[in-house]
Amino acid sequence: MPIDATQPYDDNNIFARILRGELPSKTVFEDEFALAFHDINPQAPLHILVIPKGAYVSWDDFSARASDAEIAGFIRAVGIVARDQGLVAPGYRLLANTGLDSHQEVPHLHVHVFAGRKLGPLLAP
Ligand code: 5GP
Repeated sequence: MPIDATQPYDDNNIFARILRGELPSKTVFEDEFALAFHDINPQAPLHILVIPKGAYVSWDDFSARASDAEIAGFIRAVGIVARDQGLVAPGYRLLANTGLDSHQEVPHLHVHVFAGRKLGPLLAP
């Protein structure tokens, strides 16, 4: 079910539980600001999710409330993941769903990193 991104942060969402170590994930990168792990239901040969460690519902929430250090750390983490995975030369796509119309399902900000094939048009018709 898509979530309403105007709702308060839910401490029991799946990614909060992954951050607390209560659920497993296939980690590809971690530092003080971000965690990156493989999506459980990949939509491309490579499908990684990058999440901030702080409690933010969406890109909107993060951009409004996160500190400059958190924002810089998270943005840099996305770049590090892409470079570490060798994605700059072949190319990759970033996507961050926010709220109902985008069909955001997990109410903790996440950036999808898709790669490994020609990714086609930006949006489904
Ligand atoms: P959204 O639709 O919110 O942008 O994307 C949520 C993503 O989280 C989906 O691609 C979904 O496959 C992924 N996901 C949901 N639950 C889990 C989980 O428990 N572990 C991992 N690694 N990914 C998950």
